[in-house]
Amino acid sequence: MTFPLDKFGSLPTPFFYYDMERLQATLEEANKQAERLGYHIHYALKANSNDKILRTMSRMGYGADCVSGNEIKKAAESGFPARSIFFAGVGKSDSEIITALEHNIGCFNCESIPEMEVINALAGRYGKKAHVAIRINPNVDAHTHHYITTGLEENKFGINAWELEEVITRLHHLSNLELKGLHFHIGSQITDLEIFKGLCLRVNEFQEWFYDHKIIADMINVGGGWGVDYQNPDRQYVPDFEAFFCLFKEFLHLRPKQSLHFELGRALVAQSGNLISRVLYVKNGVNTRFVILDAGMTELLRPALYQSFHKIENLSSSGEAEKYHVVGPVCESSDTFGKAVLLPPTRRGDLIAIRSTGAYGEVMSSQYNLRDKAPAYYSDDL
Ligand SMILES: *Cc1c(COP(=O)(O)O)cnc(C)c1O
Repeated sequence: MTFPLDKFGSLPTPFFYYDMERLQATLEEANKQAERLGYHIHYALKANSNDKILRTMSRMGYGADCVSGNEIKKAAESGFPARSIFFAGVGKSDSEIITALEHNIGCFNCESIPEMEVINALAGRYGKKAHVAIRINPNVDAHTHHYITTGLEENKFGINAWELEEVITRLHHLSNLELKGLHFHIGSQITDLEIFKGLCLRVNEFQEWFYDHKIIADMINVGGGWGVDYQNPDRQYVPDFEAFFCLFKEFLHLRPKQSLHFELGRALVAQSGNLISRVLYVKNGVNTRFVILDAGMTELLRPALYQSFHKIENLSSSGEAEKYHVVGPVCESSDTFGKAVLLPPTRRGDLIAIRSTGAYGEVMSSQYNLRDKAPAYYSDDL
């Protein structure tokens, strides 16, 4: 990726930089591959909810996957059609459910029986019929970091297989709910298609079970989770959506008239974003040299939160690579972007790019230490 260094020179750091051509190319390819098979993509707003990015998505016909009342409001304001908005999350508050009902969203992805009872009661109070999907915990191990796996029985997400009998019995009595879908989401940053194949086979089994109980849901929703290449952000910056969607075509058996839905977040936006920072100091430790940046865990939390890897580049220097620990300024040892990172000789004032920050980057930023919020710049308006 080439950065407009002439334009960066005058900007205060740190800031987020979005390559809108990359974003456009990624969104077009995902759309093309999904449309070819008649599949629907609902963009998971939680990955990045910047206005400009949301407007690009809604203009291109994406649906929305929301995890809070404010995300629902934001999706509606950004032009996503109400019926394409889905609402997920284990802890939907009453006021968030009311927001969703007022917006007439397409579907509540329900994660427990008590939640269904609350949605039913509130829908009744507002004279509405709520469309719901049951989020089923398929017990598929996504083999990613344990903080980002969600499809195993011992975590807080979804409804377990052994509870389904009770769920459908309860649903008969919850007259303000209409069962529209079966929902699954097994985790995030999954790059091994075998894992999604495992999900397809589990979904087929669940479909059989529901069919035996005389239920054919209109929608099957297999969530998100398709990963990106953090090691080599430029090698194939558009993830292989063709392989991803074709796998579902091959292994997931839809019933006639059933629609298939995806809730992709990371794969759509990660590679378009970068965190740009300046070197404040280069400091010698005992065996290590530290590069201290003006960006930290307040701008990009992922390394501190899940030890995740982001490629780091020095945009100002060239020459033979040396090893540095690249750290932020915050008083936490976990405020570290990378250890033994190979960089050309690095000095105070050099511009550093931390790559692939378009997903779960800016949205997770905080003002801890009363730091300023880093602004965002876009390639097409610099
Ligand atoms: C976070 C989330 C997604 C998006 O996950 P990605 O890994 O970013 O694709 C989709 N669905 C649900 C229910 C989620 O919680």
